[in-house]
Amino acid sequence: MKHPKIMLLCLILILLSGAAACIAPGRLPEERSVPTAAPETAPTEPGDWALTLVNADHPIPADWESELVTLSNGVQVDARIYPDLQAMFDEARSEGIYPVVGEGYRTHEAQEAMLQEKISAFLAEGYSQTEAEQLARDWVAEPGTSEHELGLAADINADKTRSANEEVYAWLAENAADFGFILRYPADKTDITGIDYEPWHYRYVGKEAAAEIMQSHLTLEEYLAAQ
Ligand SMILES: [Zn+2]
Repeated sequence: MKHPKIMLLCLILILLSGAAACIAPGRLPEERSVPTAAPETAPTEPGDWALTLVNADHPIPADWESELVTLSNGVQVDARIYPDLQAMFDEARSEGIYPVVGEGYRTHEAQEAMLQEKISAFLAEGYSQTEAEQLARDWVAEPGTSEHELGLAADINADKTRSANEEVYAWLAENAADFGFILRYPADKTDITGIDYEPWHYRYVGKEAAAEIMQSHLTLEEYLAAQ
């Protein structure tokens, strides 16, 4: 080799520059002449809003605001999750699965009314006021601590004519993460979530977080603690 140092330098340059410098000086590879614009299908990366934690220990932030969109059946959800929710339903239907959103956004007042209704039901069964309140809270989240008040959660069931609930739940467990939704209350995580298994309750967190949470079998609590 006549010029080992030059060859070595060239090799380093090749490695550093992606082969452009030595082979064709002054000419950039094709792809570099294209401006680095975002691809057309760039996933919309939601901000921190999508990772807002709401549970018994974390009430809804005082400054939380939802811009709502009303679905065809009258149920409302946060407008920011609507495109992905719609895309998920379109995909499900194309595969012969027919889900419906039974519950979406719920006002603070509606949550309060739900809790009172449950307390009344237990009182009617003969429980004391204290017992009835405790039992009701096992079923209904304390007002201010329900994800439904965020507008980012949807209780998704089957239309009952073309699909059965079990089919819808199975499809969602398999596919919801692709659309940014997670199974929020898994069966074996009730000690962490404080909520019984709810195969119908899906929470929007964005596609990136949803992929990690569902693949690693995490709860939102665990995912956020690891960040
Ligand atoms: Zn729910």
